[in-house]
Amino acid sequence: MADVTGDRSPLGDSQGLGRAVILLGPPGAGKGTQAQRISQRYCLPHLSTGDMFRDNIKRETELGRKAKPLMERGELVPDAIVLGMVADRINQPDCAKGFVFDGFPRTLQQAADLEKICGEHRLGCTLVLHMAVNPELLMRRLTGRRICKAGGHIYNVYERPPKREGICDVDGSQLIHRPDDSEGVIGERLAAYDRQTQPLVEYYKSRGVLSSVDAMADADTVTQGITRIMDGVKAPR
Ligand SMILES: [Zn+2]
Repeated sequence: MADVTGDRSPLGDSQGLGRAVILLGPPGAGKGTQAQRISQRYCLPHLSTGDMFRDNIKRETELGRKAKPLMERGELVPDAIVLGMVADRINQPDCAKGFVFDGFPRTLQQAADLEKICGEHRLGCTLVLHMAVNPELLMRRLTGRRICKAGGHIYNVYERPPKREGICDVDGSQLIHRPDDSEGVIGERLAAYDRQTQPLVEYYKSRGVLSSVDAMADADTVTQGITRIMDGVKAPR
């Protein structure tokens, strides 16, 4: 294989990382942002099941045709369909050197199935980055969100307040607090996330592949923490 010089990272060589990187973290922990940054820095495709659904539906694949009516009715898409899409995606040549998955797996069964798929593609053991949060701080971050009525500009009364209370800096329109951002709704979502994720955290911890990152720091600091972990693990093979 050709030797690539001048890479930004010791792992960003032509071999790639050779493993699946999984981001685990609650809504509001910044998974999407970090997944994107990892994807760029290590030249790994950024996978999300949302993108796979959209792509399969657009290309009218068999899986897409099965998933579409379920999604339109707001029903849960069965694991077999999700796994089929994941397997197809990982089969694509760009995943041969690894990938970063954001928001998957969600259950122990999915984790086991993903491991099997990775094994078939000779991808080395998974690296799981657990985005650890302080629940009170996360709650504050999420309930502090305000959105401008006219242009959708986003503020946070705690972290990024507008210059004048309740008014958008950009267009002077009113800022609203969406019902979805209320403490009750967010509390429910976070509790559901915890119930679902705790077994996954334990599972990956017991396999020795889980690393925690403090996700409450600013995005750049979180990226630095992740980079340190990723540069510290040697690519398998
Ligand atoms: Zn605005």
